[in-house]
Amino acid sequence: MKIQFCGAAQEVTGSSHLITLDDGYKILLDCGLFQGDIVNIDALNNSFIFNPKEIDMLILSHAHIDHCGRVPMLVKHGFKGKIISTHATRDLAAIMMMDTAHIMERDVQYYNERLGDKKKKNPAYKGVKREVLYNAQDVVNAVDLFISISYDQLNKIEDGIHVLFTDTGHILGSASVNLRIKRGTDDLRLGFSGDIGRPNRPILKDPHPMLPSDIIITESTYGDKLHLEKPDETQRFLNIISETCVKQKGKVIIPAFSVGRTQEIVHKLDQLVHENKLPKIKVYVDSPLSVNATEIFRAHPECFDYELHQYLLKNEDPFGFNSLRYIHDVSESKALNESKEPAVIISASGMMNAGRIKHHVANNIENARNTILFVGYCSPETPGGILRNGAKQIKMFGELKQVKARIEILDSFSAHGDQNEMLDFLSNQKNTAQQIFLVHGEAKVMPVYREFLMDNGFNNINMPKIGEEVRI
Ligand SMILES: [Zn+2]
Repeated sequence: MKIQFCGAAQEVTGSSHLITLDDGYKILLDCGLFQGDIVNIDALNNSFIFNPKEIDMLILSHAHIDHCGRVPMLVKHGFKGKIISTHATRDLAAIMMMDTAHIMERDVQYYNERLGDKKKKNPAYKGVKREVLYNAQDVVNAVDLFISISYDQLNKIEDGIHVLFTDTGHILGSASVNLRIKRGTDDLRLGFSGDIGRPNRPILKDPHPMLPSDIIITESTYGDKLHLEKPDETQRFLNIISETCVKQKGKVIIPAFSVGRTQEIVHKLDQLVHENKLPKIKVYVDSPLSVNATEIFRAHPECFDYELHQYLLKNEDPFGFNSLRYIHDVSESKALNESKEPAVIISASGMMNAGRIKHHVANNIENARNTILFVGYCSPETPGGILRNGAKQIKMFGELKQVKARIEILDSFSAHGDQNEMLDFLSNQKNTAQQIFLVHGEAKVMPVYREFLMDNGFNNINMPKIGEEVRI
């Protein structure tokens, strides 16, 4: 058997690993989009380093776009096999991929229209046209190929190939892929961690270790870090809301990722309402993807942890309370934008580089009564990152805005396990793991994590580069 590392190799996006069995059968693990500031990102996203027509099966670990964002493109380029995932991953991936297709279509249209103006002045631009990686129809074609299965069940997916998903507690539906291969000359157990979550987080179950395996492909995002716990975050959250909305009659505007963070905040507010702690103010979730993702959360109680099931006994909807409104309509969103009423507004994207959040911030940032509250990581070059870093001015929609609103950061918790939590996750592999491959980590982080794993009794740890192929 061979493994080729086709993405998230010495970096954190574009997750994709190709397993080729001795008889030529090909299994692709993940098919993610490359994101961020990587050099040659367009070249990486525009083509595959394998032939999609030759892939027999795709298995997805979870629905984050850096793990499933190129699935419709794989199908567009001739992949016809099965796509295996958990039930929740299938449902979430469908809306995430469709959202990505729509964003790309709008971006490319905008780019080509602007190119049209330039073309008139400069003949050198003639014929230069950007194209989308895939469109909505490609997403539909991809969704048609999904076969979803439950956690913790050993399923035969092909002669001599079994798969079992274990819950990683990272996002709704997230899983490690446990492969059992006994086919021709291949006879081994392979575990692909996917992204590893954190214990004791709200809503989702704690990460479940993989089955003991011979070959391990594991993420290493926070391989050099320990997360610092901040026990009083709930009180700080309440104080920010009271000071802004009650005392100053302003708005708290929260940029949040549509999947995961939005539902965590809504559930936290729901708990505060039931404990009679939240002041009587209106709360809005204003992002179409967040609204759709929350519906999918409601449809998958199999992913909820014990605490949330206990909570459900008393409160039917963990993502809804009387003063909360989910906004679907653009006109409602615009009205909210201009409203002067105190409110909490949760909107996407989390880094403020796309979506309705940009309008909410642009309209409210110059008023000192308001607060912009960051609850997650933002790349430094994004508008969110610029505000988090304390900028006094920011350009939005071509206009220079003065930052008069209060800027607050609640870095609560990451959805990725830290160094110790990842070690705990792998601890049952010590006696079986013959070879470990670190993926999904920055090139400077991986050697630190490799050293740490070696100090803790693991051997034969590799850090493959993109495109590298290893014979097992
Ligand atoms: Zn992820």
